[in-house]
Amino acid sequence: MTSTAADVDFEYASSIAAQAMLCMSDHRVAATPDHFRIWYSYCQGSSPVLKRAIDILISNKQRFTAQVLRDLASTYVDCNTSPDTFDSARRLGDVMSKASQFVSAAASSNKAHLRELEEIGAKSEIGLDPLSLIKSLIAEVSRASTRATTLEKSLASTSLELDSIRASLAKAEERSKTDTLTGLPNRRALEDFFRIAQINAMERGVPLSALLIDIDHFKQFNDTYGHNVGDQVLRLVAHALQENVRQEDLAARYGGEELIAILPGADLTTCFARAESIRIAIDKCEIKRRSTGEALSSVTVSIGVGQFRPGEPMTELIERCDRALYLAKRSGRNQTFREDQLTLTRAS
Ligand code: GH3
Ligand code: MG
Ligand code: MG
Repeated sequence: MTSTAADVDFEYASSIAAQAMLCMSDHRVAATPDHFRIWYSYCQGSSPVLKRAIDILISNKQRFTAQVLRDLASTYVDCNTSPDTFDSARRLGDVMSKASQFVSAAASSNKAHLRELEEIGAKSEIGLDPLSLIKSLIAEVSRASTRATTLEKSLASTSLELDSIRASLAKAEERSKTDTLTGLPNRRALEDFFRIAQINAMERGVPLSALLIDIDHFKQFNDTYGHNVGDQVLRLVAHALQENVRQEDLAARYGGEELIAILPGADLTTCFARAESIRIAIDKCEIKRRSTGEALSSVTVSIGVGQFRPGEPMTELIERCDRALYLAKRSGRNQTFREDQLTLTRAS
């Protein structure tokens, strides 16, 4: 049974709320309902990952800006339920109610079975002949065995149904994290991956970097060859990216014609080298129209590279990658720029 607001202990809830208000005041967080939800959950400890993330931010003396709090809320507090999940939840509910019917049917049939045996026992006391007693016993035991077999079959089919629900939930989870055009992980998968990667990087004191890719003159490509060919090129670039990252990295579609890779353990220099090999691999790709074999104009990409600063939200890292990417575009495209070139350029 789910607990309602009325079930919650008044003293307990008030003390958590008071702690949440105190924490918000300590960290100079405005006491809005959205912020309160995060800090209430933090003080209650209802989400260990949220607690860990906030503790790390506090130990890194990170300011809880509105953006940081929005990121925390969308990553740890709010959750979206897909229609697939609703369907599986409904099927799971059906299975549970079926299973509970089986169990109560079994319990009442066991009671009936016991009653029958007691009656047979009582008849033996009043001197019924042993042969008919044995016959009654055999008949009752055989009825009990039939009931047990039926129950076993019902439970086996329930367990099969549960396996199929488990499989469809796993598929739904995967679908909800995959981009349909490129087959790469999508933005949601990226957020999940980064959430774990940033905690690992901070806990172990190791670097974490990102590279943001944008296809050059893609609009022109679409205009010249059509959107379908554009889609194929996007798939090709996605494939080249996937082929050039390590198993522990994440390559994802960030949106439109922008792709991204997150490289745990890589510093800016390593990430730059990786970005360059991706850029060169794409530059070398020869694109031909499948139907006619006609060679199409070459596809190039520009890349911006950045390194995670402990405590910052993913959006800030990507924003620096984006600015480096913009610099690569301005400098003639088909190039990789690092975030540390941003300040160099500004100073010069
Ligand atoms: P730049 O070198 O400055 O990046 O130029 P660009 O033309 O690539 O950039 P712009 O932002 O002007 O255009 C992006 C184009 O990417 C426009 C849009 O139609 C195309 N695009 C975005 N998503 C898709 C997609 O899924 N499939 C196809 N075929 N095109 C896409
Ligand atoms: Mg773009
Ligand atoms: Mg582009």
